Amino acid sequence: MNSKEMMDIFAENAYVRTGGSPEELRCAEYIREKCAQMGLQAEIVPFPVDMAAIQEAVLTVDGREIPCKGYLCAGSAEVTAPFYYLRDTSAASLPQCKGKIVMIDGYLGYWKYRDLLDNGAVGFITYDGNINYADEDIDQRELRSYVSKGEKIPGVNINAKSAIELIRKGSATAKIVLKQDEYEGQSRNVILDMPGEVDEYIVLTAHYDSTSLSQGAYDNLSGAVGLLGIAESFVGKPHRYGLRFIWCGSEERGLLGSKAYCQDEETMKKAVLNINLDMIGCIMGNFIAVCSTEEALTHYIKYMGLEMGMGIRVSQDVYSSDSTPFADQGVPAVSFARIAPPNTGTIHNRYDTVALMSGEQMAADIAFLTAFTQRMANAACCPVERKIPDNVKDKLDIYLCRKRDKN
Ligand SMILES: [Zn+2]
Repeated sequence: MNSKEMMDIFAENAYVRTGGSPEELRCAEYIREKCAQMGLQAEIVPFPVDMAAIQEAVLTVDGREIPCKGYLCAGSAEVTAPFYYLRDTSAASLPQCKGKIVMIDGYLGYWKYRDLLDNGAVGFITYDGNINYADEDIDQRELRSYVSKGEKIPGVNINAKSAIELIRKGSATAKIVLKQDEYEGQSRNVILDMPGEVDEYIVLTAHYDSTSLSQGAYDNLSGAVGLLGIAESFVGKPHRYGLRFIWCGSEERGLLGSKAYCQDEETMKKAVLNINLDMIGCIMGNFIAVCSTEEALTHYIKYMGLEMGMGIRVSQDVYSSDSTPFADQGVPAVSFARIAPPNTGTIHNRYDTVALMSGEQMAADIAFLTAFTQRMANAACCPVERKIPDNVKDKLDIYLCRKRDKN
């Protein structure tokens, strides 16, 4: 694939494709077709996901209706209560949530939601967007099942411009009306097998879904194109380790595609390494590798970068992407990304389009990733130890909400 062909793929997939939607399926079929054009037979493998259709979502504050989107999978309810803005989660602030509809900063993660429930909040408000942007967009959020664990209070998401107004005006009373149908739906992984000489394999992953406002060009059609490029380099060439390419669905909804894949313990036993791509090929920014592996791999990648003239910053850590469920199953996992400086490219909004992408940078990033994959796939013995060190395990516990970060 040359850089022009890569840019065409961005143009042909310039649409929103959230996990479990018909558009996600459309993109899965597109990827399967791209594989077929290379003579490779990929398969669409469905897995169940929670879905919801909102009937009504209304936020009223002091009698004024505030534009909002209701949280999917947060149940149906109608609550009126005093409004409270939780500025921090200190012992001074948390008890003030009791009996109130609470607005929080940032994402509603597992521990924040626990804090709200434990302190008696009756509803919640989140916000996103940017007060300096021209749009009034509101992202469609969901109360993820691993966050709610079945305990649901109604919530809405609003634009940051509305949030700042609520505080400026000194809001007193809020009302949330939320009505929705919740049901089980389907998302899908696209899986391509390229068997090797031995019965063990390297798993390459990249998610192809997007968030609700985003065309997800940079995050992460770029990685999906990267996998196509790597697969193409192996066509007709024998390799020692098997390669399994997985274009993951519903990553943006909590790594659901990779989690579904990693559930099968028997398949996992034969996986020696996971190589994950999440955001590459943007016009500006530096290249990184995050190794959820023994430290030795960080040195290997650093040396390879120097050898190939590729600037690369390598760390031993957990990356918020599809590599994490693999590492959690004991499969050494490394994520690669090119990180755009925040003022040249943002994600999870309407601005993540082909305008952020560079065909030349895509080709350069994929060339490095292909070289790395070739080396691993043709190694006499996969050099990465099949063991997750304790310091990485601790980080996995925190990332996967089994332990709370003390900071
Ligand atoms: Zn991503």
